[in-house]
Amino acid sequence: MTHRCIVCAGTSLKPLYEGILQCRQCNYVFADLGLTDEELFNLYTDRFFCGGEYKDYLADKKILQKNFKLRFRALQPFLERRHKSLFEIGSAYGFFLEVVRNHFDSVQGIDVHERGARYADEHLGLDVIQGDFLQHDFGNEKFDVVCLWDTIEHLREPQLYLRKISSHTESGALIAITTGDVESPVARLRKQKWRLIHPPTHAHYFSTKTLTRLLDSHGFNVIYNRYCGFYRSVDSALYNILVLRHGKSRAYELLQRSGAANFDFYLNLYDIMYVIARRR
Ligand SMILES: [Zn+2]
Repeated sequence: MTHRCIVCAGTSLKPLYEGILQCRQCNYVFADLGLTDEELFNLYTDRFFCGGEYKDYLADKKILQKNFKLRFRALQPFLERRHKSLFEIGSAYGFFLEVVRNHFDSVQGIDVHERGARYADEHLGLDVIQGDFLQHDFGNEKFDVVCLWDTIEHLREPQLYLRKISSHTESGALIAITTGDVESPVARLRKQKWRLIHPPTHAHYFSTKTLTRLLDSHGFNVIYNRYCGFYRSVDSALYNILVLRHGKSRAYELLQRSGAANFDFYLNLYDIMYVIARRR
C-alpha cells in the first residue's frame, strides 16, 4: 500500500521506529496501521476507558475535570461574543462539555464510544451523538468553537476531520487541540519508548510544524501554542507504569492498598502541545 503524507502529500516515507513511518519531505510521523474504520473504532470499547488506556475514566472524573478547567482557562482569552456554540470531537463521557456548558448557548459532542455517549446524555443531560464525526450529517450547522482533547492522534485520517470542521465553521471560528509533540525534548530523548508512542490507538505524531501546516492547509491560523501540563492521580500514574508498562499488577495492588496512591500532582513534561487556531 502506498502512503501519502497527510500534511504535505509527499510519497517518500522512511521507517522511523518499528511500525512508525516518517515523511522525508515534512518530517510528519505516523503509525503504519492499515486498519479499517470498524477495526479502529472497535479499539474504543468499555475496556479502553476502564482497564485499558484509562484505569477507570468514570472514577477519575474529578481529576479529568480539573484538567478540562485548565484547558478552558487557556481558551477563554480567545473567546468573543460571537463564539456561541461549542462542539467537541471525542467527548467520551461528556466531562469537558459539563465544565463549559454554562459558557455557551449550546454545547454538543460526538464519540464513537457508545457507553460514554449514553452516559453524557442520560446522566449529564448533554447533547452527545454516538457515532463517527465523518459519517454524521450536520446539514448546514456551523460551530463557533471545536475542541479535540487528546483525540487527533487517535483518528484514522485527521485531515478529513479538519476538512469537515472547516466546512462547518465560519471565519473567526476557533479550533482547540491537545496532542503529543513528537519533536519535544522528551520524545526525542525517549525515541520509540516515548510514553505517547503506542499504536494502534495513537496513530499520528504531530509536531508544532506539521500540525501548524495541516491546520493552515484547512484554513486555520495558529494563534496559541504552548506545552500544557496536567493533573494526575498518583494512582493512575502507578497504574500506567506498573500495570500497563511492566505488567506488575501485584505490586500495583499492594501500593494501592497502602494508601500511597491517594494523591494528585501536577506535571508538565513539555511534550503535550496545546494549539488554538482561528479560521481565516
Ligand atoms: Zn509530508
